[in-house]
Amino acid sequence: MCKQWASAIQFRLYCHRGTFVVPSPWVFEAGTVRVVTRFAPSPTGSLHLGGARTALFNWLFARRHGGQFLLRMEDTDQERSSETVAQSIIEDMAWLGLHHDQDVVIQSARRERHTQVAKELLAHGRAYYCYCSENDIAAEKLRSEKEGKYYRHHCPSRDVNHAQSGTVGVVRLKSPENREIKFTDGVYGEISVNSAQIDDMVILRSNGHPTYLLAVVVDDHDMCITHIIRGSDHITNTIKQMLLTEAMGWDNPQFCHIPLIHDEEGTKLSKRNRAPGVHEYRELGFLPEAVCNYLLRMGWSHKDEEIITMQSATQLFSIEKIGTSHSCLDSKKLLFLNHHYMNQRTEHEILELLLPFLERELGCAVAKTKLARLSLGVKKLMERARTLADLARDSVFYVQDIPISVDNDAKQVILSSLELLAKLTDSMSQIEQKTWTKDFLPSYIKEWTKRNGVVMSDVYHLLRAAIAGRLSTPSISEVMEILGQEECIHRLRFFLNP
Ligand code: GLU
Repeated sequence: MCKQWASAIQFRLYCHRGTFVVPSPWVFEAGTVRVVTRFAPSPTGSLHLGGARTALFNWLFARRHGGQFLLRMEDTDQERSSETVAQSIIEDMAWLGLHHDQDVVIQSARRERHTQVAKELLAHGRAYYCYCSENDIAAEKLRSEKEGKYYRHHCPSRDVNHAQSGTVGVVRLKSPENREIKFTDGVYGEISVNSAQIDDMVILRSNGHPTYLLAVVVDDHDMCITHIIRGSDHITNTIKQMLLTEAMGWDNPQFCHIPLIHDEEGTKLSKRNRAPGVHEYRELGFLPEAVCNYLLRMGWSHKDEEIITMQSATQLFSIEKIGTSHSCLDSKKLLFLNHHYMNQRTEHEILELLLPFLERELGCAVAKTKLARLSLGVKKLMERARTLADLARDSVFYVQDIPISVDNDAKQVILSSLELLAKLTDSMSQIEQKTWTKDFLPSYIKEWTKRNGVVMSDVYHLLRAAIAGRLSTPSISEVMEILGQEECIHRLRFFLNP
């Protein structure tokens, strides 16, 4: 099958999915090939799901092959980059469990090295100073576009290999005039482009700053990166970077481009269209293992398994199982996975993770005694909750003092049954304390409703509303046992004499 790519700079890539002309360089026995991968985010926006998936795939590939996973901050766009964002990316990765090897490489700190490489290219006649005006080039580009032609800049100083004194110019790489540039992509198979479609790229700007393309190539080389996995939006960069690598006489790493993620409305995720950040999922109460499993299944599959732990993914992960079609955000799937993973955690772990969410819900610290109460009821609540935030909302009544918060539905029920509430409270306060158990209470309520000619479900509704402040709770008899008779009677009485 042949697929055509049209890039923003108007060149085409033909790729033959699945028809690897040569064996895929991404398929080999674990341990037989040295693997060094990297994640290279630009700290211009926090880590979003697309970036996190790229990081995960690189991390898994390295772990699968006993290799290294490195982290590089591409902060050369000094105006848009921020150290705080870089720090938040590192924290989000640590939260996901994607720990990198070695120190973080800060791209801006390597500017001198990037410049030195540009100078080497100049010295070997592989690059040249170009003094053409940007406006003229833009006008020429526009003209070519109108004529439906590829734009290729023809600089009069292409073959002059020294700088003109007194004039400020950029440095461009001399791209070959007519050569097929090919590589075997891990996902798309053979990709080839004729170099006639590739403009002589700028590698040093007129202010002497290295461009992104140059910095990436130099850093990947110096960091000894062997395998690069990144979004398919980088395919055009790959071809250019390959030319630069070859011009330096270095070996190209292997490339694998993964189809992009679209949101639930079908729009490509990007920092610009406010792709959801990992941090937001964390704040909403998702567990890192659920987010990782979710990211893994966005593009990668193993049979038709939905639940795949990171432990098994490090054994199973392979590039051949990445599909060629884009994947879509699916919040229902993430909620399903989170519910699953929450129930794999011990109650003790969940309580610890829940604490900040409870405190947010309460607006103050949670007393230890109240937490002990919740620890008895948390298991049942975990069976229903899909996120930690859900769980905090559902369980806050265990740790609240009177007056507990009461939702609107519960308020309605209480206000319309004050007479019943008074009668019920009176009777229940007479129950002997030692019989206040989850086994005794249902039979007591059954008996009581019969005696008083009341519908049983009305009583249960009322108890839930007044004791938990909501109409949906786990077994209210169990809740009542955990809270104890005294607390329950106080809660019921509060609505009679608020
Ligand atoms: N810094 C680039 C980005 O955030 C990634 C570059 C790369 O992976 O080569 O999109």
